[in-house]
Amino acid sequence: MKIETITTPFVLNISVNCYLIHLEDGFILIDTAKAGQRQAVEAALERAGCTPGRLKLIVLTHGDFDHCGNAAYLRRKFGSQIALHGDDIGMGRDGNMFYNRKQPNPILKPIFGLIFALPEADRFTPDVLLKGGDDLAAYGFGATVIELPGHCKGNVGLLTPEGDLFCGDLLGNTGKPAVWSLVDDKAAMAASVEKLKGYPITTVYPGHGAAFPISAFWAGQGN
Ligand SMILES: [Zn+2]
Repeated sequence: MKIETITTPFVLNISVNCYLIHLEDGFILIDTAKAGQRQAVEAALERAGCTPGRLKLIVLTHGDFDHCGNAAYLRRKFGSQIALHGDDIGMGRDGNMFYNRKQPNPILKPIFGLIFALPEADRFTPDVLLKGGDDLAAYGFGATVIELPGHCKGNVGLLTPEGDLFCGDLLGNTGKPAVWSLVDDKAAMAASVEKLKGYPITTVYPGHGAAFPISAFWAGQGN
């Protein structure tokens, strides 16, 4: 198994990652970037030799538009399937990034709702609903799903037997490894961070920023 990171620009100096997992006989794509970066993601898949039929599964760590902006398009193009946690289903289906999130400031909500909505053509209903404890062996990828809510309700991590954790937007690495700055539910986020201690994790592959050893994160937490 080889992990290829596809990094694309997001906003300001922040980028967003997709991870293309090279399997013996196909590929898994973890997250898909925002719709505006479609060409970059497609080009990376083509360079890797991922042709229609070879993309076994598109796994979304959560439903935000910067991670699932190309999911519907890539599913069509590659004849693939989309997996997402059920708690984020309305983000993809209705394009509403506030689905299942706590209600933010009533004045800002409609503004952000417009800016961050997923365009209608890119909305989707997942084929596979993820939940904690699931494993993706049926797709040739021996990773386990860990529920890591806080940034949003349906944020999941994918942990491989080698100790690689794709954590979605639980942790990020813009500047240094840290809890991701956008938090919807503080208590859930803290519990998700605590939960990581129960797993044999070595390297973290975040939604934003470069991969890092989990020890670097704990060191920054004073642990
Ligand atoms: Zn994100």
